[in-house]
Amino acid sequence: MSEKTIFKKIIDKEIPAKIVYEDDLCLAFHDVNPQAPVHVLLIPKKEISSTSDIAPVDEPLIGHLFGVIRSLAEQLGIAADGYRVVSNCGLNACQTVPHLHFHILGGRGFGWPPG
Ligand code: AMP
Repeated sequence: MSEKTIFKKIIDKEIPAKIVYEDDLCLAFHDVNPQAPVHVLLIPKKEISSTSDIAPVDEPLIGHLFGVIRSLAEQLGIAADGYRVVSNCGLNACQTVPHLHFHILGGRGFGWPPG
């Protein structure tokens, strides 16, 4: 069996995280290396490696995650001014943890195009 990812260990409460939201399907916690005043990661509890591995059966789950993102943006106080949601997929996008996650970034202005 392959080794658990760091995010699976957070889901299983084997390592600590600053959790801001949890339900049966997902977990949100502060990124340990924040790139903005607000930087939270939202992950499904289901082990999906990346956006490329989302199956049709997962589509209701992905819809749920975006509902949680909308609520979290309000809860975190970044909804009014705007925020960015990012999911890095694979090598070119610099994905480092092979468990699907959405970065929710806010509290400052962001450039476009991204680096
Ligand atoms: P990515 O590069 O898109 O795969 O993002 C992985 C993110 O996970 C990075 O922003 C890391 O700072 C973050 N990260 C790694 N380990 C932890 C941890 N133990 N707790 C919180 N965030 C983490």
